[in-house]
Amino acid sequence: MGERVLVTLDGVVADANTPSLYADDIGALRGDGVFETILVRGGTATALEFHLARLRRSAQALELPEPGLAKWRSAVELAVKEWGAEEEGMLRLIYTRGRDSEFDVPGSGLVPDEPTPTAYVLVSPVPARVTQARAEGVKVMSLARGISVDLAQAAPWQLLGAKTLSYATNMAALRFARRMGADDVIFHSTEHRVLEGPRSTVVIARDKQLITPPAKIGVLPGVTQRALFTVAEKKGWECKYQSIFTADLFDCDSIWLLSSVTLAARVNQLDGVRLSAPDNAQEIMDMVDAGIDRPGTIGDW
Ligand SMILES: *Cc1c(COP(=O)(O)O)cnc(C)c1O
Repeated sequence: MGERVLVTLDGVVADANTPSLYADDIGALRGDGVFETILVRGGTATALEFHLARLRRSAQALELPEPGLAKWRSAVELAVKEWGAEEEGMLRLIYTRGRDSEFDVPGSGLVPDEPTPTAYVLVSPVPARVTQARAEGVKVMSLARGISVDLAQAAPWQLLGAKTLSYATNMAALRFARRMGADDVIFHSTEHRVLEGPRSTVVIARDKQLITPPAKIGVLPGVTQRALFTVAEKKGWECKYQSIFTADLFDCDSIWLLSSVTLAARVNQLDGVRLSAPDNAQEIMDMVDAGIDRPGTIGDW
């Protein structure tokens, strides 16, 4: 256990401890590619079809070749089988623009329009922080993202709705927060509107309402948030996509960071202010669990 599983898109189980990327892979050179992170639980890749649908949308945003979803499905199936059903795993779909040298082959007369994308599935153990975040929640710091809520619409090249491999800024924000004694981050816009976490969706609960910022302001549409809303609506919660100001975060019953592997992490401290758990905290976590158990269908986005 704990061994990583690597499966290439052509269905080959590879040795995860042997180098397999070319040095000129554009994913490594420029972070030019997209990814998905999926929870493996009980021997299945949870909410797989939602993730495949988003992989396709992200690829479209970067003008990468259309990912062949049937191949991705089989590669995931194989990877999950290799991983087994005993332990939870963190499964990543990685899809990059491929090799830089394939863009232009001097004098060959054989210049492909586009390189062949690099595509593989990697399963790793769930990080230790996940268990703690699920059980105890997270200390969060709010940080400026330095963008307006209008940017996503005005500047599509910012790729704000795509899950791209260019996450150095997000990781830097998390390191900054850690230095300041926090576990995670909530980004806000120049207008002090709540955006998202560096790797999670923000949802607030107030009475019998769940509210998350709409994707059009430049946040990634979250699979886990969608899963929660689907279940919650059936249970009589009112679920809304609505602007949240940072001040609203101190005027609600609970704040949640939702993501595919951690699932629901309750914010137990925000900018140094302790936030106690509401009575319905477990109900919200249970609804997330129930929501991700549905495989989804490709048309669901
Ligand atoms: C992955 C991610 C999320 C959460 O999405 P899930 O589909 O729930 O895992 C939210 N925001 C960002 C920036 C992300 O990268």
